[in-house]
Amino acid sequence: MNYDQNNVFARILRGEIPCHRICENEGGISFYDVSPQAKIHALVIPKGPYRDAFCFHSKATSKEILDFSHLLTQTLQALDLVGPDGFRLIANSGKNGGQEVPHYHIHILGGESIGPLRK
Ligand code: AMP
Repeated sequence: MNYDQNNVFARILRGEIPCHRICENEGGISFYDVSPQAKIHALVIPKGPYRDAFCFHSKATSKEILDFSHLLTQTLQALDLVGPDGFRLIANSGKNGGQEVPHYHIHILGGESIGPLRK
């Protein structure tokens, strides 16, 4: 399956749509989710054109993967989520994973108890 160059996160990366940015490095950006599902809800995305978690982790360069990993930790620190209370990370992939935006992203949910995975 091809990468859709007009998905909303590709448009954010091109500066065509605004976002409330948290952190950025060479490999990606993080920003607040427009429709928060928890007190704190952020998204971390790579800058490269990767559709989902498998595409990214199987095709990205070592530098892209390292940059993404650093961006995730920087964002957790910026959101003050590093501590005993914890947080949840989610990476929806494809139809069965419930992925709506076909550009790889990790959701960060925190600031309150997120509850069980299945309600
Ligand atoms: P997923 O279902 O994992 O693909 O999640 C996509 C997420 O992107 C949803 O939580 C949306 O609320 C969020 N989203 C969609 N458009 C925007 C946008 N323009 N800025 C920030 N978040 C967005």
